[in-house]
Amino acid sequence: MTFVELGLRPELVRAVAGAGYTDPTLVQERAIPVVLEGRDLIACAQTGTGKTAAFLLPILQQLAGGKPLRHPRALVISPTRELAAQIGDMAKRYGMHLRLRSAVIFGGVGMEPQQRRLAGGIDLLVATPGRLLDHLGRRQASLGNVEIVVLDEADRMLDMGFLPDVRRILATLPATRQNLFFSATMPDEIEALIRRTTHAPVMVEVTRRATLVSTVEQVVHPVEMTRKKDLLQLLLQSGEMGQTLVFTRTKARANQLVRRLEQSGRRVVAIHGNKSQNARTRALAGFRTGAIDTLIATDIAARGLDVDGISHVVNFDLPNVPEDYVHRIGRTARAGKSGHAISLAAPEEHTQLAAIERLVGTPIRRQHIAGFTPATDAAERSPQRRSQAPHVVRSGRHRSGSGRATASPSGGGHTRKRFGRGSRPTRRV
Ligand code: AMP
Repeated sequence: MTFVELGLRPELVRAVAGAGYTDPTLVQERAIPVVLEGRDLIACAQTGTGKTAAFLLPILQQLAGGKPLRHPRALVISPTRELAAQIGDMAKRYGMHLRLRSAVIFGGVGMEPQQRRLAGGIDLLVATPGRLLDHLGRRQASLGNVEIVVLDEADRMLDMGFLPDVRRILATLPATRQNLFFSATMPDEIEALIRRTTHAPVMVEVTRRATLVSTVEQVVHPVEMTRKKDLLQLLLQSGEMGQTLVFTRTKARANQLVRRLEQSGRRVVAIHGNKSQNARTRALAGFRTGAIDTLIATDIAARGLDVDGISHVVNFDLPNVPEDYVHRIGRTARAGKSGHAISLAAPEEHTQLAAIERLVGTPIRRQHIAGFTPATDAAERSPQRRSQAPHVVRSGRHRSGSGRATASPSGGGHTRKRFGRGSRPTRRV
């Protein structure tokens, strides 16, 4: 299947070719025809599958076929500022040969430039929920012309407490419209929202699971909770780790880690919800160019982060929700390249580790680092079997181009919950 065969107009085909895409990814192949048909869509797909283009390309095509109006005809609601900015950038890239106007609005920056942008007339609006409601409340935005709405990363909206805001926004939209929902998992609240909002939706489900297992080298280093910082410092000093993304459970732990790792000669920055928008944008830009080589993030801050060339993802703390492990390690090994996922697992994180292994469907290799084995593990292991090397991490490719996101698309999934009987979509693609 090619982009031409999917029914995209030449301007869009030229733009995706310019972006270096040769073939559509699985979610694009399945979702684009559905959106072009004007049907409602529910897509279970996470970052890295090419989901953004799966909704942007057919939306741009629909917009290009209509008359420009003052108020937006398409609206994309995104949970985070970073993701909204990325979607806005991609809309510009894919729409470069079309005469369409798009705008991105999110909180943490001044309202006035956004207000001017909204007043100037736009076709596609990408927005975070809170800031969009602010503009609607001041009558600086009107959603009365919206024909297509996208809810991106719907499960994250729920996790971040945005669902009431999203419901209020949806209530202001024209009743006759096309609804596109994208969510990596399907919690009850999202399922209920979908049931109430959509009409005869088509469901598309893809995961990167098979790709992750085959291209990310996963390892667990057992270590006491109190020794994690020392171990991470040792690993980072090994000289084998390139662009590294480290996940911590809390903002406080992210900050502590920055202070500690700065002493290891790495260029380290944290991104989390307490950082200003400017600080977050600067950190991401630095990480993209390589001026920063270690980014410490909480799950929410890293949501939707699209950075090529991450060679190592470190789970400094194991996630409580096992699906987050897959989200996290999906940041490395983009475009079918190899990558490394290193998990520092304390004895008290045994339950989370077991849940992750159940989800990925295979045991993850344990590698004991001399001097860091937890007392409980040491008692069970013979000294000969313990690794004497301070650190062994096979070096991977540290940079990857913007190639195909889904090297081996697979069916099946790891949604938290599947659709119940009452809400089963009419067609499964
Ligand atoms: P997403 O899942 O939307 O976050 O996209 C992940 C990455 O895949 C982005 O860097 C896109 O530029 C890239 N991408 C999207 N579609 C394709 C494609 N058909 N071929 C190659 N790369 C793609």
